[in-house]
Amino acid sequence: MATKRDAPNLERLDRVVADARRARDERDLGYRERALKLYPWICGRCAREFDRSNVSELTVHHKDHNHDNNPPDGSNWELLCLYCHDNEHQRYLEQPVAGASRREAAPATTHTPFADLASLLKLGD
Ligand SMILES: [Zn+2]
Ligand SMILES: [Zn+2]
Repeated sequence: MATKRDAPNLERLDRVVADARRARDERDLGYRERALKLYPWICGRCAREFDRSNVSELTVHHKDHNHDNNPPDGSNWELLCLYCHDNEHQRYLEQPVAGASRREAAPATTHTPFADLASLLKLGD
């Protein structure tokens, strides 16, 4: 027997997702084009120069890492090549938490929220 399956909710969800994705793409395109008009096509880190043939490797970085912060004067944008952009974000990600990979470089913090807890546990032992 053939069961009729219709999933209108799923279809609608698909459309919502597609719309959101397109809106984001259009927004991205918007600030990228504006930034490329505003600034010379040069990576702000390694000073590599770009032209029409390779401008796709030049990306727009948000200085405060907030992609929704797009002031018309471009003050939150920085043109970076793909590699420097990657580096920039890696540095940013490593900043807040001292990762295991760079433990020796982490600043010595004397204040830890668990220090008191540890001594409490010892006392109660
Ligand atoms: Zn670069
Ligand atoms: Zn960025």
